[in-house]
Amino acid sequence: MRMGNWRAGAITVSLALMTVGFLLALRLDCSAQGAAARHGQPGSVTVAGKRNPAIALLVRQIDARNIERTIRQLVSFGTRNTLSEQNDPQRGIGAARDWLFAEFQKVAASSGGRMTVEKQTFEQPKAARVPQPTVLTNIIATLQGTQPASEKRTYVVSGHYDSMCTSPTDAKCDAPGANDDASGTAAVLELARVMASFKFDATIVFMTVAGEEQGLLGSTYYAEQARKNGLDIEAMFTNDIIGSSRGGNGLYDPHTVRVFSEGVRSNETDAEATVRRSVGGENDSPSRQLARFIKEVGEREVPGMKVWMIYRRDRYGRGGDHQPFLERGYAAVRFTEPSENYNHQHQNVRRENGIQYGDLPEFDDFAYIANVARVNAAALAALALAPARPKNVLLGNGLSDHTELKWDMNTEPDLAGYEIVWRDTSAAVWTNSRWIGKAHSYTMKGMSKDNYFFGVRAVDKDGNRSLASYPRPAPRR
Ligand SMILES: [Zn+2]
Repeated sequence: MRMGNWRAGAITVSLALMTVGFLLALRLDCSAQGAAARHGQPGSVTVAGKRNPAIALLVRQIDARNIERTIRQLVSFGTRNTLSEQNDPQRGIGAARDWLFAEFQKVAASSGGRMTVEKQTFEQPKAARVPQPTVLTNIIATLQGTQPASEKRTYVVSGHYDSMCTSPTDAKCDAPGANDDASGTAAVLELARVMASFKFDATIVFMTVAGEEQGLLGSTYYAEQARKNGLDIEAMFTNDIIGSSRGGNGLYDPHTVRVFSEGVRSNETDAEATVRRSVGGENDSPSRQLARFIKEVGEREVPGMKVWMIYRRDRYGRGGDHQPFLERGYAAVRFTEPSENYNHQHQNVRRENGIQYGDLPEFDDFAYIANVARVNAAALAALALAPARPKNVLLGNGLSDHTELKWDMNTEPDLAGYEIVWRDTSAAVWTNSRWIGKAHSYTMKGMSKDNYFFGVRAVDKDGNRSLASYPRPAPRR
């Protein structure tokens, strides 16, 4: 009964929110048209989309209590250092590995056979932080896409379940890793639990990896296998240190998550760099488009959360599990809390001069982690429901007052058509869009390619929009 009331309440609230959103969108449309008129552009509208009821349902099911339970369980293994005990059922990375594998298998049981779980095991040779050859295991849960034209298209969401104390090669010390990175691991497990009962066009991989603290070893192995097998990974998210809403600087901010994205592609060739210097695009890599997508969808579907785009591959001079993906040409971003507390990262658990050091669960904010997981869920679902981003998008080369765009037609049966998005060259996000229907070329009349950045998005019949594709110059005739 109470559940029924709560549900009715939630529906009323979401309808009210949708109405407010719709009115806001209308208002934005008007102001955008005003701005467009000032710029002399014909009939432009903003990119603001409507909330998707399926995504709203999914986001609501993410439960902070499950996230807390997972984190406390992972901490209970004492250490999850990659070099720690592999065969002790109580302590060490082996215990964490087997517990996670069993949890993902439980989740898969509710997927109607669409989710499979595997241990991806390999022997890591000696390396800087690996004193002797060591077996590493990634836990990989794959939720198969249901649309034949899209099932090969894959999105990967990841966290690392290994941890460390002050020394990365100390396999004996306590390394609770409640934030780094039980928080990301718990978010990925909760995403898998909630998303397993939903159907998506494309495939989603929920992954928890080992060896991050030893030099991104687990994620590197997965990304390299993916490249060798020609896996079509359209986007990868790593969630690493998403546990706390309070920084070492004292700032309390439970409403913001940072999303780090690179501007210039890690795998850019010299020839591509020459083209980019000539036509621009430092701010339009596939990873930057992914960050924009997460901001647009995350803020729309998870009210109260702000996605803070950081124009960097990672924190200053630091790294994460998205890097091996970037180096192999996949779009990838990193989610991290707004301000970190270094007393609680990579520290032996101890008290010194009245200060508590160590990565302990008491410094986690489980409600905050749930909200970061909700932003992940919204963006992943939106990507996996939508068509693939348009391929081979080309911009006409000639001297012209107009901008000519063309691309390959998508093959999804539920494709409704395309929209052109654009923004001022100094704007951070797409500010305008125009619906153009089912076409594979379009000319923006009276708009010079010198003065705007353009992109193309595919849209399905339910209004799900793809990532934007940034055009490259068409070969000169
Ligand atoms: Zn980490």
